[in-house]
Amino acid sequence: MKYQTYTLHNFKNIPQINQLSEEDLFAIEVVGNVLPFKTNNYVVDELIDWSNYKTDPIFILNFPQKEMLPSDDFNSMAHLLKQNADKKVIKEEANKIREKLNPHPAGQLEYNVPELNGVKLQGVQHKYRETMLFFPTQGQTCHAYCTFCFRWPQFTNMNDIKFSMKEADLIVGYLKEHTEITDLLITGGDPMIMKASALDVYITKILDANIEHLQTIRIGSKTLGFWPYRYLTDTDADDMLAIFEKVTKAGKSLSFMAHFNHPTELSTDAVQSAIKKIRATGATIRTQSPVLNHINADADVWADMWKKQVKLGLIPYYMFMARDTGAQEYFGIPVVKAWQIFQKAYTQVSGVARTVRGPSMSCTPGKVRVSGVTEIKGEKVIALEFIQGRNSDWAARPFFAKYDEKAQWIDELSPAFGMENFFFEEELAEVLLK
Ligand SMILES: *Cc1c(COP(=O)(O)O)cnc(C)c1O
Ligand code: SF4
Repeated sequence: MKYQTYTLHNFKNIPQINQLSEEDLFAIEVVGNVLPFKTNNYVVDELIDWSNYKTDPIFILNFPQKEMLPSDDFNSMAHLLKQNADKKVIKEEANKIREKLNPHPAGQLEYNVPELNGVKLQGVQHKYRETMLFFPTQGQTCHAYCTFCFRWPQFTNMNDIKFSMKEADLIVGYLKEHTEITDLLITGGDPMIMKASALDVYITKILDANIEHLQTIRIGSKTLGFWPYRYLTDTDADDMLAIFEKVTKAGKSLSFMAHFNHPTELSTDAVQSAIKKIRATGATIRTQSPVLNHINADADVWADMWKKQVKLGLIPYYMFMARDTGAQEYFGIPVVKAWQIFQKAYTQVSGVARTVRGPSMSCTPGKVRVSGVTEIKGEKVIALEFIQGRNSDWAARPFFAKYDEKAQWIDELSPAFGMENFFFEEELAEVLLK
């Protein structure tokens, strides 16, 4: 299948696009000048239901919507476009709006960049003891862009914020020195946008280094949802699968962390064939998605998705809260509602799908799970727990926030039972000062 992308510059060539109203077309231009916009022929031809585009989850997943920007910002950008303003002026306005959309949530840039022999490893994050994240330079884009993406700044021209690193040797050096690391998570953007030959350089070096404590190589990718032909008809499809096999044959586990937002993404022949091919390499596929207003904020959708995943041999892994960045106003839902969706979906599936954890907030102190709403001695509370903590000892310790139906993120919650602080806050402040 030939890969054809559509962005702000050519989306009007999409054959189905003439079904959109003038107003919706213009909204794509306005919002698309601020938030990243990219889709492709697989999404357009095989996933989107164009007859219901206004409410179609996959359409909303890729195409900018008017409500994704605060109305003042939408109007100011619309005004510039209508005036045919200078490109430079449009860009400046876009950057101004972006700065207001919290482009760097959860201290991603400042806090988690490790060092090797005094050199900062740009392109690496090491936040949780067992797992090191690696963002290969060549993998910093995706086959299409999710409109909710928290990595959106790196797709726009805010250049200074890309984290990336070419030197596989530095990674190997760091891994060797840190015997506590069992997992290397290769992420992006989408690392599967890389040529197999580029990924092979990293994988071969890592495998050749024979790092005993490294158990699992994870690859975080949206390709199964956005471009399953990556494993079927792309010229280096078989080469990529051969790399996966090389990992499993070397005695490491390969965990493909697949990002699916909606059951529709599991429905095509292409995705089902691609899943079979990846599993045939000995890799396991785990799945994750944020819970998103307008896309999947519905228990039945999640239950359906988890059931379909299990049937295809995938392991449900994470339900995330939409991060506090970009179009969170549009996509975000309160933690209480997210938990209700989770609970209602979880109770519809058997134990083999209950491997899923969530809803989880990836925030500065760690990954915080909303365990549920309950009442303790007459006080209604939200029970929380760390799935991952900046201090690993925080994991699996329940703590409690005051019940709050509106709160969408941890910083909007306050401790229950009249406590001043959550148990981890003092220690967190100390860790962050280091
Ligand atoms: C989610 C995450 C991981 C992986 O956590 P697991 O619970 O092992 O899946 C690692 N590092 C960062 C920064 C993360 O956000
Ligand atoms: S695939 Fe992942 S990194 Fe790429 S746009 Fe979607 S959420 Fe962002």
